[in-house]
Amino acid sequence: MQWQNNADLTAQNSFGFSVTAEHYCKVDQIDQLEDALKDVEEHGWPLLVLGGGSNLVLSEKIPGAVISVMTQGVNVLVDDEDSAIVEVGAGENWHDLVGQLLQMGLHGLENLALIPGNVGAAPVQNIGAYGVEMSDCFHSLTAYDMQTKGLVQLSAEECRFGYRDSLFKSIEKGRYIIWSVRFCLSSIFKPVLTYRGLVDYLAEQGINQPSSHQVYKAVCDIRMSKLPSPAIIGNAGSFFENPVVSEADFLSLKLRYQNIVAFKDRAGFYKLAAGWLIDQAGWKGHIAGSVGVYDQQALVLINKGGGDSVALLALASKISDSVESAFGVKLKIEPRVYP
Ligand code: FAD
Ligand code: NAP
Repeated sequence: MQWQNNADLTAQNSFGFSVTAEHYCKVDQIDQLEDALKDVEEHGWPLLVLGGGSNLVLSEKIPGAVISVMTQGVNVLVDDEDSAIVEVGAGENWHDLVGQLLQMGLHGLENLALIPGNVGAAPVQNIGAYGVEMSDCFHSLTAYDMQTKGLVQLSAEECRFGYRDSLFKSIEKGRYIIWSVRFCLSSIFKPVLTYRGLVDYLAEQGINQPSSHQVYKAVCDIRMSKLPSPAIIGNAGSFFENPVVSEADFLSLKLRYQNIVAFKDRAGFYKLAAGWLIDQAGWKGHIAGSVGVYDQQALVLINKGGGDSVALLALASKISDSVESAFGVKLKIEPRVYP
């Protein structure tokens, strides 16, 4: 394990901001991680664990240490007649994993194709798309516990998964370094077709009973047509979370805005489509110097080139203020803003 000083992380954050980390290292062995953490403790450095950098807003200078967990491997631990438990290193690429499982005839994650980032970050915000969440196929994980200074196994219940949320993003933020994740997958394919965009796309292709490959391909095609690729336009996907409001608040909004896009959740609350609110407030396609709002999806903020976190957060703040004054709904930023 070797620290790199003043490491350039421009290529390691999907906004493509020019970012320098004071000290940076990559680890894929537990003794390397322990050595790195000794240095972190000794020097009192603040610590950021970095995956693919696709859900982060990083400042120009990152103080202290940044560690990338590079653990690899996709190993079948249990292979029953109709299900399997597969253990995956935190450093594996998420989208590659989804494709690999498909080739292995193991189903459940097709709707989560093409989400950027690494496997180790997937539990952090319990990634979700098109009606499926990572927690639907989650078995357990192994993480380094910074408090007890050793590896621990955490079950789904212990991870406290919620809607784009978990223990790692909330009450125990910064405590665990995820090392490997175990998924429980099915050899029997049961498509999840609850999202209109996906259903319509398959119908347009004349597909009534899609195979897992067809769902995977449909998700990839839709995403490529709607979302900017970070390799071309810097972004972190959805910039704001979809706000969840009470039924009473939803009904009062619905009286004023008949076309409001909202979905009732299992607990009886209403999830409002943040993209619709931002679009209605007039921000879609708005450019503010080097940053802006993507012209095909108002929920995505972009770096036009040469932007930084200061400009981006200033724009985000104006957007959330205007949405709040129009709809009385407060928007919350989804990616982690660091430091
Ligand atoms: P990073 O951005 O590097 O880190 C994210 C957080 O996880 C940070 O707090 C970091 O400290 C922590 N972290 C990373 N690795 C570890 C680890 N090993 N142990 C502990 N903590 C760790 N998200 C969705 O949920 N659904 C989507 O459909 C979706 N679509 C997207 C589309 C685009 C174009 C982009 C750019 C982003 C999208 N995202 C989506 C957001 C993002 O891809 C996911 O949140 C992804 O899981 C982040 O992975 P990462 O490796 O890039 O994490
Ligand atoms: P979309 O399909 O146009 O839908 C707009 C919003 O309505 C989404 O936010 C979605 O909520 C919600 N929605 C649509 N149909 C729903 C249903 N049947 N039940 C419950 N909620 C429904 O969204 P999109 O922007 O093209 O994105 C497609 C999917 O990819 C979404 O699931 C989205 O979350 C995911 N995505 C996430 C990110 C990210 O960075 N987090 C980036 C891009 C895409 P949900 O967001 O809760 O699904």
